[in-house]
Amino acid sequence: MLTSIVGINWGDEGKGRMVDLLSESQDIVVRYQGGNNAGHTVINDRGKFVLNLLPSAILREDKINVMGNGMVVDIEHLCKEIAKLREGGIRITPDNLKISDKAVVCCPYNVAQDCLEEDRLADRKFGSTRRGIAPIYADKYMKKAIRMGDILHPEYLKARLEGIVEWKNLTIKGAYGAKEYKVEDLLAWFDMYGTPLKEYICDTGYFLNKALDEGKRVMLEAQLGALRDIDFGIYPYTTSSSTITAYGPVGAGIPNRKVDNAIGVMKAYSTCVGEGPFTVEMFGEEAQKLRIAGGEFGAATGRPRRVGGFDVVASGYGCMVQAADEIALTKLDILDGMESIPVCVAYDINGDRTEEFPSGEALNIAKPIYTYLDGWRCSTANCRTYEDLPENARKYIEFIEQAVGCNIKYISVGAERDAIIVK
Ligand code: GDP
Repeated sequence: MLTSIVGINWGDEGKGRMVDLLSESQDIVVRYQGGNNAGHTVINDRGKFVLNLLPSAILREDKINVMGNGMVVDIEHLCKEIAKLREGGIRITPDNLKISDKAVVCCPYNVAQDCLEEDRLADRKFGSTRRGIAPIYADKYMKKAIRMGDILHPEYLKARLEGIVEWKNLTIKGAYGAKEYKVEDLLAWFDMYGTPLKEYICDTGYFLNKALDEGKRVMLEAQLGALRDIDFGIYPYTTSSSTITAYGPVGAGIPNRKVDNAIGVMKAYSTCVGEGPFTVEMFGEEAQKLRIAGGEFGAATGRPRRVGGFDVVASGYGCMVQAADEIALTKLDILDGMESIPVCVAYDINGDRTEEFPSGEALNIAKPIYTYLDGWRCSTANCRTYEDLPENARKYIEFIEQAVGCNIKYISVGAERDAIIVK
């Protein structure tokens, strides 16, 4: 059985929390794309954990976690993330963590290149997280990346690095005039942060295929949401990888498998980190109230997130491109205090009304068309059944369920593991 958990919006929908919850019934959880450019925040009985690279089920004792070939791995960051979790009492061994030999390594020169380019762009910047993600994905497709499996073959690694570093310095030093990278320094970096990871590196594709053949339950965990997908998102303000369900089996290393159940995680309102079109953006006091209520500050970067009301156009599109079978609606409780809740039901583009999510310049100039639903003005934090919810909260849920055209099965009303309603 293959399940995916994916984001319907711009990311930060609370996927980490849903994987943490739903992984209980899974055997294996796989991250299939991205790197340490985003973070999941998970709160459970052992404390609060921020995960950037590790799959969220690392916090559960008896689950196997896989970092798939679609990922880009900053091994220094990974070693530090593992060390931090171990300090918090989390057990991480080759039995519960497996890293694909085909995942590529995000190197210090990729991070440097990312920063140099953002600095060059200055106020024209795209809002990169400066973690080297775009440069390493570019290197991957240029076939000039080191793969995790290369760490197991030091002579090969050295030979590959020599060629790549010579080429990379043409950019770092030649184009940006920054300090060039030396192969011996990078080999020392690989020695320091690659060596401890050696025992985790394997062919995770064969591992997952065998597990599925044996009837194991595997869950694919996405980072970021549909609107950040490199093809279907708000390009160029997207991430550099495919965040969608259809890519999941490819990035996990099981391209021969179909996803049986795609769970889309969708937020009860909208948030967006960084630059780019965000049609429903709120400003001023109203925005700050929502931002603070929702704790909307980036998990990886601490940046304040842009916030707004629920966007039916964007979310309906998100459900479509994610092929969502069911929805987990998160952070409903954040709307508890609102008197009247804005919901964007269509866009106005040059005077024409549309319910289809546009791209490019049409999206840039789109204006939101709102409808307002009555708030419930009481706490939902202790609701545990659908019937416990105030009537207006149920009306709100049913309205957006119908508008996006996908069944809302889970509703979360708090960050804790049990603050969930199954409808
Ligand atoms: P992710 O990257 O999609 O996992 O999203 P974030 O890292 O932004 O996680 C969402 C944040 O909201 C985390 O701090 C969660 O603990 C918290 N959270 C998730 N679901 C809920 C909810 O239903 N209510 C509240 N109040 N907080 C939630």
